[in-house]
Amino acid sequence: MEATRRRQRLSSNGGVSETTEEPAGQWGRAWEVDWFSLSAVILLLCTAPFLVFFFVMVCDQYQCSVSQPLVELYSGEATLLSIWEKAPSFTWTAAQIYTVWVSFQVVLYMCVPDITHKFLPGYAGGVQDGARTPAGLINKYEINGLQSWIITHALWYANAQYFHWFSPTIIFDNWIPLLWCTNILGYVVSTFAFVKAYLFPTNAEDCKFTGNVFYNYMMGIEFNPRIGKWFDFKLFFNGRPGIVAWTLINLSYAAKQQELYGYVTNSMILVNVLQAIYVLDFFWNEAWYLKTIDICHDHFGWYLGWGDCVWLPFLYTLQSWKLHHTLPTTHAAAVLLLGLVGYYVFRSTNHQKDLFRRTEGKCSVWGKKPTFIECAYRSGDGGLHHSKLMTSGFWGVARHLNYTGDLMGSLAYCAACGFGHIHPYFYIVYMTILLVHRCVRDEHRCSSKYGKDWKRYTDAVPYRLLPGIF
Ligand code: NDP
Repeated sequence: MEATRRRQRLSSNGGVSETTEEPAGQWGRAWEVDWFSLSAVILLLCTAPFLVFFFVMVCDQYQCSVSQPLVELYSGEATLLSIWEKAPSFTWTAAQIYTVWVSFQVVLYMCVPDITHKFLPGYAGGVQDGARTPAGLINKYEINGLQSWIITHALWYANAQYFHWFSPTIIFDNWIPLLWCTNILGYVVSTFAFVKAYLFPTNAEDCKFTGNVFYNYMMGIEFNPRIGKWFDFKLFFNGRPGIVAWTLINLSYAAKQQELYGYVTNSMILVNVLQAIYVLDFFWNEAWYLKTIDICHDHFGWYLGWGDCVWLPFLYTLQSWKLHHTLPTTHAAAVLLLGLVGYYVFRSTNHQKDLFRRTEGKCSVWGKKPTFIECAYRSGDGGLHHSKLMTSGFWGVARHLNYTGDLMGSLAYCAACGFGHIHPYFYIVYMTILLVHRCVRDEHRCSSKYGKDWKRYTDAVPYRLLPGIF
């Protein structure tokens, strides 16, 4: 059955692909945009920046009450303009802070090659291969996110304890002016990536033009835009400056609480600890991250560029506004348990797939040899490739238990805020929409990629997130 005619050819960056005449699914993002996707794209482009502003502004001005500004608008007590004018605006101080921050992260990313992998057992840092792109290329990445995170946080700690160059509340104190700065960078980066795709793409074979300017701008054209050999837009903007900042933002909120009330609540500590575990997990597994959808399937546009600069740091840390109460011990224990179990499911599921793919199935999952479905697909250059879809371990229970674990963790962060306000629960609502949509999007892509083999897989593992339900 493998008696198919194959030839090997070298793709433009040196990656090797095989070609054959055997039929298989065709890989890659759609070339044509349906009306539903286009409407969603335009809606998001028009509303997302205002949504972020709204959620941050209500905390700054209305004690996180989402209904209060709407009531004031309805009763005529306020106008859109008066609400807008009440919120702090752009400041040059925030611009300086943000410029120093982003520049520092660029320097750590570009100029400090990873040494942590030399002494941290089990950590995969340094130069690593990414996944095969739709055009059949395999890019190399310098993985040094963990090192950047450690250096940044060590400096933050040294400043707070010894140097006192700036206040640990600096982020909180400049929060809305910083929102302006992140928006500027988010739009500049997305627009630059859009123009670059037309004028000087990094890998022209991996560009996708749909013919619709809004869709191209939002979902991206280039697959892996780079400047020079190593400055990879996706890896940099996805991981830093947003995710390195995540834990610092939380620390800044905790510092503000200490300054205002003289103590830090258990709910604040819980969220700081649970989210720090999630962030550290991300950097510890940065090489694995090269094989996730963001890096190996999504193109780089406003969705990733603006999303990483603005949406992530501002909306993923929303809970911190509502952590000024001490939780009863049972409530705190329940939140901790939910967060840790969620993290366990999330990490173990991701780990099982990674182990399975790295060893090509020659490993042990839950004490047994994993079962799988063999599948084939074609890359854009016509090459035929083979892959395996695991049907045991967590991947035999449901097709995306990693998302389920992520959602449990997200719910824990929100539950740490108590049940008095709906504002912090925006995060779990958003994560549910994001991950359910991602699940559907990924399955659509996998179905195009693997064709009938994907159908065999979904027959073997019928549920997506919750066995027996969805
Ligand atoms: P996955 O890591 O689940 O990757 C999906 C891909 O895995 C599929 O496209 C397919 O790729 C491959 N695959 C699917 N089923 C199987 C199987 N049974 N066996 C082997 N390979 C399989 O998805 P993501 O990249 O979206 O997510 C990674 C993690 O990141 C998740 O835990 C998610 O929760 C988290 N995440 C968090 C976000 C946040 O904002 N906090 C945002 C997005 C993700 P292939 O083409 O290689 O076959």
